[in-house]
Amino acid sequence: MQALTTRAKVAVNKKMTFMERLYLPAIVGGLRITLHHFFKKKVTVCYPEQLRPFSPVYRGYHVLKRDEIGAERCTACGLCALACPAEAITMTAAERKPGEEHLYREEKYASVYEINMLRCIFCGLCEEACPKEAIFLTDRIVYTGYKRSGFIYGKDLLVEPMEKDKRIDVSKRQTQAVLEFKKNPVYAHNTLYTKALKA
Ligand code: SF4
Ligand code: SF4
Repeated sequence: MQALTTRAKVAVNKKMTFMERLYLPAIVGGLRITLHHFFKKKVTVCYPEQLRPFSPVYRGYHVLKRDEIGAERCTACGLCALACPAEAITMTAAERKPGEEHLYREEKYASVYEINMLRCIFCGLCEEACPKEAIFLTDRIVYTGYKRSGFIYGKDLLVEPMEKDKRIDVSKRQTQAVLEFKKNPVYAHNTLYTKALKA
């Protein structure tokens, strides 16, 4: 019968030679391989002390962005959930009340917004579908955990902090076309952006 692999060896029940019975040549051969690897450049990385460089467009754990004055950009339109091939996003919409303009940019906002990180395949389609530049993937890594429930990320883990110095920088993920669009004063939201740039 023809062998399925070219690496197959036919087992022969022959008597061992004197040198083979000594085992020493085999031990020396093994040590030679060990020494060869001992002085080679290590390919392992001592994580977490050492971090490997990430690609600038690495797609990790999401962020829900705030605008220049700190209001949540998401308007709970559901386009990200519709675009998601893994059906990982769920949300509940709510109506903004008078006096909450500093918290939510639009009249409608997501009172609940959840991403199931066990379902997510980090494809970035939610980011592309969002018309409000509200959701972006970042270079952050999803936390490890022992319970499946711990991988349902709500707004507490997704919305970026209000403090300006703690905001998540996503400028590397924004295309030139988007940046140009943001500067166009024809669009009402951009007035805030251009004001913030001048400030
Ligand atoms: S990155 Fe892809 S899979 Fe993950 S939530 Fe967004 S659209 Fe869904
Ligand atoms: S993140 Fe963007 S696409 Fe998703 S609901 Fe909010 S505004 Fe709509």
